Amino acid sequence: MTFPQLIDGKAIAAQIYEELRPRVASLVAQGFQPGLAVILVGENPASQVYVRNKERACEKLGIRSFRYHLPEKTDLGELLSLIDTLNACAEVHGILVQLPLPPHIEERNVLYRISPEKDVDGFHPYNLGRLMVGDPVFLPCTPWGIQELLRRSGIEVEGKHVVIVGRSNIVGKPLAMMFVQKAKGANATVSICHTRTPDLAEHTKRADILVAACGSPRVITGNMVKEGAVVIDVGINRVGEKLVGDVDFDSVVGKVSYITPVPGGVGPMTVAMLMANTVKAAERFFARAGERKQ
Ligand code: NDP
Repeated sequence: MTFPQLIDGKAIAAQIYEELRPRVASLVAQGFQPGLAVILVGENPASQVYVRNKERACEKLGIRSFRYHLPEKTDLGELLSLIDTLNACAEVHGILVQLPLPPHIEERNVLYRISPEKDVDGFHPYNLGRLMVGDPVFLPCTPWGIQELLRRSGIEVEGKHVVIVGRSNIVGKPLAMMFVQKAKGANATVSICHTRTPDLAEHTKRADILVAACGSPRVITGNMVKEGAVVIDVGINRVGEKLVGDVDFDSVVGKVSYITPVPGGVGPMTVAMLMANTVKAAERFFARAGERKQ
């Protein structure tokens, strides 16, 4: 094996699309096309790019996408009423609200309103609770994408010390919960670090698998990483014209066994897992519709 190995998120995401294609085709053959509704509020340029990427992925797979682009000044009531309509719509099987929302809208109120059966981002407390008890339905896309990256690269997690930098509800915390499960692709010992961790390097240096999900450009440097570690860089930060991760790639790459690039690492996996959740949501909807007919 040559060291280090670059984990190619685009290639692994492409495998996942190939696996999803026949599942979509089978639904379509039965007269049932999966549908994803994406709600975007305001004009955040990065959010617009993410939404376009998700629509392109839908197009590739034959999933219908419905875009709702609402003005920045949209109030909570209007947004909730759109979600209620989509919850009841038989052509929509997944609903995604692109984050961040404008500051006057409390994200929690919005995410809690999405039907757990259409919660393809896996952010609803019902789905997070199912993850916690080890019986997940919809896993959050980025953590699930990271687990799949490792699994499909042949990197064992069981028995390893995983250190996660970042404790957000969408990446750090659910990822920690996934890796501590008594399950395949898990069974790790997990540490979570954040801005109140006094000596970050003391923890990161002990990681067999280090996940940087803190949104601080190049904060993880070579002297903070153990020789031979696996490094997963979740960060997407714009520095001038460049997109950079939370890992200082150049100083880390010489020390590690595996590393994800930015872009082209975790990012494509997040979209691929969103597609996987949407297909699953459509299959579950279709199965329930079949049960009602009987
Ligand atoms: P949040 O801003 O919600 O959370 C960041 C977390 O990192 C917080 O817990 C914060 O600690 C911690 N943190 C920030 N700076 C430091 C630091 N210097 N040292 C230690 N801990 C720190 O971010 P997200 O979880 O939403 O996203 C993290 C990054 O991942 C961002 O760059 C985002 O763009 C990217 N991202 C990428 C995705 C992809 O598909 N590749 C998907 C989702 C996110 P505290 O809680 O104490 O404030």
